[in-house]
Amino acid sequence: MAHSEVAERYRDVMDRVDRAARAAGRDPAALVTIVVTKFHPAELVRELADLGHRDFGESRHQEARRKAADLDGLGLAWHFIGQLQSNKARAVREYASSIHSLDRDSLLTALATDGDPIDVFIEVNLTDDPGRGGVAPESLAAFADRVLATPGVRLRGLMAVAGLGRSARSEFARVRELRDRVVLPRAPDATALSMGMSGDFEDAILEGATHLRIGTAITGNRPDRA
Ligand SMILES: *Cc1c(COP(=O)(O)O)cnc(C)c1O
Repeated sequence: MAHSEVAERYRDVMDRVDRAARAAGRDPAALVTIVVTKFHPAELVRELADLGHRDFGESRHQEARRKAADLDGLGLAWHFIGQLQSNKARAVREYASSIHSLDRDSLLTALATDGDPIDVFIEVNLTDDPGRGGVAPESLAAFADRVLATPGVRLRGLMAVAGLGRSARSEFARVRELRDRVVLPRAPDATALSMGMSGDFEDAILEGATHLRIGTAITGNRPDRA
């Protein structure tokens, strides 16, 4: 019964989120848990929606658009969390409530509009590898200024993926420090921290994460990537 296993893992993870929040002296209701459903079929999203879940994360445009269309009418919020090509940015706006992976000027320019704003998070690259997504910490201030000067995007805060083989907790602390030092003086409302995945969300909660992006701990292993 693969389906009931998903429900069980979902309840288990939500309990862990709840406990970690209380242990950190935080209100669990203030955390947004985004279930990352990339590579999984729309039926899995529907099952979680039936359990009352609303926030889902996807990392590929075609796949995300298809699921959003299939599940239209359920009132779901789609968070785009993957690397995004500029030529797809406007299409993502059509179904996504937020983009967590804003990391360069070409994407920012493509998102600009006089229409309704979309929520965005600036992705910070915590590695030394510029090939990974994200803005280098030393470029964050200037990029944040450009985001704030662009119509049609509402800066919510920062997003990061902890690197492999390092202490996730210290990396999350670094993201929080960048928010406090670089983002908040420019944009006092941009308090959000999108950080924490299946293997490290408890550490992220301790360091102030507001948006968790949790995939396999709930969905089980991802099917082979097509
Ligand atoms: C896939 C993905 C996640 C979820 O990862 P899990 O380890 O399955 O929880 C979170 N964030 C991003 C950016 C991802 O691509």
